[in-house]
Amino acid sequence: MGGLVVVGASLAGLRAVEAARKTGFDGPITLIGAEEHLPYDRPPLSKAFLAKEDTAPPMFRDEQVLRDELGVHLALGRPASGVDTRRRTVRVGDEEYGYGALVIATGARARTVPGWDTLRGVYTLRTLDDAIAVRTALTPGTNLVVVGAGFIGSEVASSARDRGLTVTIVEAQPTPLVRAVGAHMGAACSSLHARNGTTLRCGVGVAAIEGDGAVERVRLSDGTVLKADMVVVGVGASPATQWLAGSGLTLEDGVVCDETLHTGAPGVYAAGDVARWHNPMFSRHMRLEHWTSAAEQGALAARNALDPANARPYATVPYFWSDWYGSRFQFVGIPATDEVRVVDGDTDGAGFTALYREGDRLAGALTLNRPRDIMKYRRLIAGESSWDDGLAFAKTRTT
Ligand code: FAD
Repeated sequence: MGGLVVVGASLAGLRAVEAARKTGFDGPITLIGAEEHLPYDRPPLSKAFLAKEDTAPPMFRDEQVLRDELGVHLALGRPASGVDTRRRTVRVGDEEYGYGALVIATGARARTVPGWDTLRGVYTLRTLDDAIAVRTALTPGTNLVVVGAGFIGSEVASSARDRGLTVTIVEAQPTPLVRAVGAHMGAACSSLHARNGTTLRCGVGVAAIEGDGAVERVRLSDGTVLKADMVVVGVGASPATQWLAGSGLTLEDGVVCDETLHTGAPGVYAAGDVARWHNPMFSRHMRLEHWTSAAEQGALAARNALDPANARPYATVPYFWSDWYGSRFQFVGIPATDEVRVVDGDTDGAGFTALYREGDRLAGALTLNRPRDIMKYRRLIAGESSWDDGLAFAKTRTT
């Protein structure tokens, strides 16, 4: 077969090229990345990298390892602009790369609001370059307003508090983290902000970000005006699929794939934050923006693309973590809304466990500072345990 081309030189793309070599594939591999940087790890960007000025960029691999040991041709700083699935080529500037197998791993981009980014001092946080810019601006005495109380907004707030800044988070939803953990537990998580000196304003939108050249204030929809020297907009991310317009691939909030991550076009698979695939574990399509699934999907997409006759499904219980103020949230499963029950600890205290029910099935678990329990709940959910089994297991953890 022809070579392997991977578009997107980040976590999923890196795992794809590593897995290809592990399977013994010795054909040509090309890794195409829009950013100039070698692949790096994103989670530290809103945590240690922001909180401490001297933290080194979280690079995954040396260039020498990629080029010489893995034999990867690197095309960095070179965004792909299209794919022709009939001729099996990827377009990059004036060049075309032919492929036998293609893994699309272009991730997601930070969403912003048109007009908000015209003032100096307004940032989003997705890339290493974004993180360098935000870190440079986080100087003591700065008034920071974070727009959006999702995980990234909350982590930025936490890191900024570590650096001694005054921080206000503005969230349009009635509670934070609605999409990630549901409204009930979102409200519970938010008490950490108050306990660490971050002001959280929920249920109010941002009407305008104002200033003369540089940001000076944020005007809220209820008329409140917040003094701001710096604004970080954390209102989510959108899958990076613009470059695939007209390719014939199905694009619906991501690249739509079957359970083996196959897009339907010969040899073309997708992985990571950009992939919307059918997860047999929950019998539904999902697109995750979680580190673990991006890594696992990257590896599996390459294996399946190189050996489609033996393609395996990607069935998983979603997992993510988030670190704020020295505490760790971990979530497994889906934030089902039939019932959410705190089964251990106290949501205003140092740790807790909450379980999520869908029908009579245990569908999810959220923990704060319970690192030894979370993977046990993940296994229970993977085993399609009932809600009652979940509650019975929880009792063994608290007695
Ligand atoms: P990305 O990491 O988004 O990489 C995609 C790459 O493709 C990018 O380098 C992009 O430049 C490139 N690209 C885009 N378009 C093109 C194109 N046309 N041509 C070539 N290249 C292109 N997850 C957790 O579970 N826990 C956490 O604590 C956590 N913290 C996070 C903190 C931050 C600040 C961020 C941004 C994410 C965090 N995540 C966390 C999510 C996790 O990092 C992502 O799920 C993971 O990075 C996804 O990997 P990916 O390779 O699919 O996509």
